[in-house]
Amino acid sequence: MEPEFEIGIIGGGPAGSTAASYLARAGLKVAVFESENFPRDHVGESLVPATTPVLVDIGAFDKVEAAGFPKKYGAAWTSAESGPIDKLGFTGLDHDFRAAEILFNERAQRGVQKDYTFHVDRSQFDLLLLKHAEEQGAKVFQGVRVNRVDFAAEHPVLQCNLAGRRVDVPVRMVVDASGRRTMLGSQLKVKQPDPVFNQYAIHTWFDHFDRKALAVNKEQSDFIFIHFLPVVDTWVWQIPITDTVTSIGVVTQKSRLKASKDNLEKFFWDTIASRPELLSALKSSTQMRPLKTEGDYSYALSQICGDNFLMIGDAARFVDPIFSSGVSVALNSARIACEDIIAAARAGDYSKKRFSAYETQLRRGVSNWYEFISIYYRLNILFTAFVQDPRYRIDVLKMLQGDVYDDDEPKALAAMREIVKAVEEDPDHLWHPYLGELKAPSAKAMF
Ligand SMILES: Cc1cc2nc3c(=O)[nH]c(=O)nc-3n(C[C@H](O)[C@H](O)[C@H](O)COP(=O)(O)OP(=O)(O)OC[C@H]3O[C@@H](n4cnc5c(N)ncnc54)[C@H](O)[C@@H]3O)c2cc1C
Repeated sequence: MEPEFEIGIIGGGPAGSTAASYLARAGLKVAVFESENFPRDHVGESLVPATTPVLVDIGAFDKVEAAGFPKKYGAAWTSAESGPIDKLGFTGLDHDFRAAEILFNERAQRGVQKDYTFHVDRSQFDLLLLKHAEEQGAKVFQGVRVNRVDFAAEHPVLQCNLAGRRVDVPVRMVVDASGRRTMLGSQLKVKQPDPVFNQYAIHTWFDHFDRKALAVNKEQSDFIFIHFLPVVDTWVWQIPITDTVTSIGVVTQKSRLKASKDNLEKFFWDTIASRPELLSALKSSTQMRPLKTEGDYSYALSQICGDNFLMIGDAARFVDPIFSSGVSVALNSARIACEDIIAAARAGDYSKKRFSAYETQLRRGVSNWYEFISIYYRLNILFTAFVQDPRYRIDVLKMLQGDVYDDDEPKALAAMREIVKAVEEDPDHLWHPYLGELKAPSAKAMF
């Protein structure tokens, strides 16, 4: 059967809809198969500026701007007021480890004209992007799950489930954008759990939470806040969703939750209570939804492209959300992949070798993220020190902007790695007691 569609995309999240927009704008016949009916809720609400050039490219930036999502000008970190560092009587360093902040306007970024990005209600953001893809000419099928891709025939065939009925859709090429469900990665058995990160998140929305409660600079209360807790490898996100609604999430090691016998409510509130000022601000607000959890979310895929297929977004890789990198990886992986896909379509050749530029660039970007995140977990006071050190601040900001795809490893990463090594090797080092428990293998991403 001759395919009606050139490209079939599995999943209509940010990665899938962005790819659909790029491909439709290039004149290709593309179809998106999304198992849910939008709008649907999704975790991952704080963007980084590296999303902007992609949104501009596909013609969606003005729509996102017009949707009125809260603007995000920067990021801030706080830690317990009388944390262990104070108790240690830290001397010889000027840095205040209790708080740090960074503004996106401190560094010019290619393709980014604005000094802000957005915090988004994902149900609305993802719907906007999916509708946009449709307006660019992509065919969008909602409520259609792809169960399997059959590669045995002349063309790949998407085996879909439409209201309990099986429908086969042949295409010339498949793009897997199925997110952490990793539809194709699971089918091909190329998904590997991360050997180090086994984090777990518990999150919900609160109404009328006082976002200034923990902010050192009260004018920056609409930044994303990462609150360090005096509990190893555990932190809280604070993300504005509307003027009054705030998303709060606790990220911790899964083993900690297990140790509290999986009592989610108790674990959430006990963990929050380790920062009494956060507990009190949350208790004065209204919890709007039940707690939701996300687990088992760090993994890599040993293969992200092959003859007639590739994976993008979370379907290709996921590490840890500490630096809000996910949606920017989704959008940028779609951007980079589509360059190769459009060239392949023009050549009429969708073989694996056509996607090698994509594979190299994506793996480079994601391995920078992975390295940065690993170092952060290993010694997070080092991160705060680097943010405040003029020699490294801009380099760290570059990563926080999500600007990680075009250059080799940022120099701050190499410097951080050396310091971590020195601290690990010297039990008398003042920072030694602050080493986290998660230790990535020499900072090299798995694939
Ligand atoms: C705890 C946590 C916090 C996070 N915080 C942030 C943050 O602050 N900022 C940020 O940028 N990112 C964050 N992320 C990451 C972010 O959520 C993801 O990186 C992002 O959603 C990836 O987009 P995607 O399009 O690849 O996948 P998704 O958004 O998951 O979209 C995939 C879509 O595919 C559909 N689908 C799945 N299987 C099938 C199938 N078989 N057939 C058809 N459709 C299918 C799904 O219904 C879904 O709509 C966070 C992640 C976690 C776990």
